[in-house]
Amino acid sequence: MKASVIGVGTELLVGHTHDTNTAELAADLLAHGAEVEVSFRVADRIEPLVRELKHALAHHDLVVTTGGLGPTPDDLTREAVAQALGVPLEPDPAVLERIRAFFERLGRAMPEVNRRQAERPRGARWLENPRGTAPGFLWQGGGKTLVALPGPPEEWRPMWAEAKRQLGLERRATYRKVLKTFGLGESQIAEILGPLYAEVGSYSKPWGVELVASDEDVAKKIRKKLKGKIWGEDEDTLPGLVHRRLLAEGRTLAVMESVTGGLLAELLTDVPGASKTFRGGMVSYTREAKARFGVPSEVLLAHGQVSEATARAMAEAARRTLAADYGLAVTGVAGPEGLEGHPVGTVFVGLATKRGTRARKYRFPDQGRERIRMRAAYAALAYFWSEA
Ligand code: ATP
Repeated sequence: MKASVIGVGTELLVGHTHDTNTAELAADLLAHGAEVEVSFRVADRIEPLVRELKHALAHHDLVVTTGGLGPTPDDLTREAVAQALGVPLEPDPAVLERIRAFFERLGRAMPEVNRRQAERPRGARWLENPRGTAPGFLWQGGGKTLVALPGPPEEWRPMWAEAKRQLGLERRATYRKVLKTFGLGESQIAEILGPLYAEVGSYSKPWGVELVASDEDVAKKIRKKLKGKIWGEDEDTLPGLVHRRLLAEGRTLAVMESVTGGLLAELLTDVPGASKTFRGGMVSYTREAKARFGVPSEVLLAHGQVSEATARAMAEAARRTLAADYGLAVTGVAGPEGLEGHPVGTVFVGLATKRGTRARKYRFPDQGRERIRMRAAYAALAYFWSEA
């Protein structure tokens, strides 16, 4: 079944109201096995509304609209649907009475404009709205189905549930596996996976590329091909995994961060119960701060603030100062200007353990300070995940 979803309202086009309805409905339709081909927003104007509804009805088996069912003259969904279907609007005295009663319960007389809400395109069945005045409706004919719902989510959700019941739409058992990688770009992943890449959705996030498989067999093959590059699945987060690992080992972590300015500590403390594994950290944003927090002056002098040696010394200083089992450090250049001859996006991560200290260099593209800092913080967590 091919479906389309339409959000009605000029305020949706210009962003005054953030359109969440179309995405929520599309996701739900997909979960019910419908093939959602398009979703879009249309202004509160009769001509584009009728045109787009006709187009949608010509190409799809099911068309779902939200919004534009209110009582005011700019609520045009009823008229537009009737025109698109080529049928008249008909008043329903029983519904008019119900709307009148709705206002009476609120101790008010029904405004005359609300009369319009008791009109529906000929042949349509009402979808009752227990939470507002705007009833929706369901129309079927010639193999096509149209469902018109009001705009407010708390109003349309129960009505949509009723429409699905009437249409016999049942939720499909769907498989969805999110595989979370780090250290590879989308193009590298495409190269490694070959034809398998076309079988997954791929999304670039600050914590690495996420691959979404909708088939168990595909997920299995990807796990095999990307062995060692996948750090988590589904709801896993890097800070959460780091916390779980430390908790299982009964060990603790301390950080020293320069370029990320506290972001690494923030991510680590986002995890409930973080104090069991995270001891704390230092933001050593200047050369002086690095020296005062325990980075040897000789190291800073010989290698500069942005270097592998300094990242190592920062990690060791964090571990020592806070008496932690691990010290994790990040230093780099977020821009807009380069530093010490390093281009923007250069980042070093250091990790100190009781067995020794290591560091690694990263080069992120210059996509602005915010993204570089975010990626640097996640790089530090991923480095810990793979090296500790
Ligand atoms: P009502 O008469 O109950 O207001 P309606 O069908 O006339 O229903 P609209 O006037 O179009 O609905 O929208 C009412 C409210 O519903 C908006 O102010 C907004 O809060 C919410 N809404 C409408 N469309 C959307 C959408 N696409 N996504 C999220 N919220 C929406």
